[in-house]
Amino acid sequence: MTTATILNGKQLASSIKTSLKEKISNLKQKPTLAVIIVGNNPASETYVRSKEKACLETGINSKTYKLDENIQETELLELIDLLNKDNDVNGILVQLPLPSHINTDHILHAITPIKDVDGFHPLNTGLLLKKSPKAFIPCTPKGILKLLHLAKKDLTGLNAVVVGRSQIVGLPIANLLINENCTVTVTHSKTKNLKEICKSADILIAALGKTEFITKDYIKENSIIIDVGINRTTEGLKGDVKFSDAIDLCSHITPVPGGVGPMTIAMLLENTYEAFLSQTNS
Ligand code: NDP
Repeated sequence: MTTATILNGKQLASSIKTSLKEKISNLKQKPTLAVIIVGNNPASETYVRSKEKACLETGINSKTYKLDENIQETELLELIDLLNKDNDVNGILVQLPLPSHINTDHILHAITPIKDVDGFHPLNTGLLLKKSPKAFIPCTPKGILKLLHLAKKDLTGLNAVVVGRSQIVGLPIANLLINENCTVTVTHSKTKNLKEICKSADILIAALGKTEFITKDYIKENSIIIDVGINRTTEGLKGDVKFSDAIDLCSHITPVPGGVGPMTIAMLLENTYEAFLSQTNS
């Protein structure tokens, strides 16, 4: 029995931030990220605070717009229009989820694609499908790919199984893995024989949002496991994978916390820096 190597997202994110900080310190003008948060969702407030802190640490200006829960969609669209036109703003992020009276797609589609550092605009989704280097890749999948490359440089020919088909994690990581020459299966809540499918995975991406759902019966020996899940439990944060089952079976695994989460924020900073460079032709 072997013990898996931990893919330390906290450490990798920290080295990416250090390198960004150095590059940004050499710029005459600093990149600016505008973050919009609507309402008082405690988890969203925590995420926004972490993003502000990370910007501060790397030398990116962050401007947070905290809006009332009852704001109308038109008012939010007006703010996005202003930020789209503001040359001093390089990246725009709208913290999700939005209150139910606001149509999330209307909002995300209103952000100009060149400032869409979350990579959720359909133009960026299309550019990702076309393998365009101009695509803003959504932060969580972009971070996952970097973690996978810590385990293995060349992913060609590996069987990858993605559990979850969300627009922000499951689908973009599936596309990135296809671009890496993996053979990809995307599964979801209607999938039959999920255990068998997962057990065939050389790379297993668990992004379903169910506490410790993936147990030893789902895991192939010597596979690489990326646990995207963030589930708040009475025992603290837990992933979608039962870590104690996985650790003796797989070859590599991301911990929760300290795996995918810190990489998501590092990729947001990287996307903001890249947006700045392309907008200023630096
Ligand atoms: P969503 O709720 O949008 O999507 C969940 C997906 O999982 C859906 O496609 C759903 O299927 C599928 N699913 C649900 N139950 C099952 C099941 N029993 N078997 C197979 N598939 C199932 O979640 P997100 O993609 O936004 O997030 C997933 C997890 O990742 C959450 O825990 C979230 O907190 C975490 N997360 C972590 C981030 C990080 O930075 N670490 C960033 C973003 C998310 P269907 O489509 O059929 O409903």
